[in-house]
This record gives sequence, structure tokens and C-alpha cells, in this order.
Amino acid sequence: MAVPKRRTSKTRKRLRRTHYKLAVPGMTECPNCGEMKLAHRVCPSCGTYKGKEVISN
Ligand SMILES: [Zn+2]
Repeated sequence: MAVPKRRTSKTRKRLRRTHYKLAVPGMTECPNCGEMKLAHRVCPSCGTYKGKEVISN
């Protein structure tokens, strides 16, 4: 098994991790109620998807 010759320095480790970022979820406005919702998902505030009511309260 290959073994690292040197210990990775704090700077090297931190520089590598600068590429790790939180992904912003794809948000869209609900065409029925105008609330912001996650794309391709049922609207949590009015319960519709593609113009049809899926969840009834
Ligand atoms: Zn909605």
C-alpha cells in the first residue's frame, strides 16, 4: 500500500478544503401561491404540483 512521505500541513489541508462548499438548493417560486419551494417537489405551503392539488388539508 502506498504511504504518504510527509504529513499534510495545516495549510495544505485547508487549501484542499477550500473547494468543499455547501450547495445551494434549487429554489423556485410556486406558480399557485407564490411561495419559494424546492424545484421538482410538491409545494409545502399549498400542496400542489404541476397545477394539481396533491396534498389535501
Ligand atoms: Zn404553493
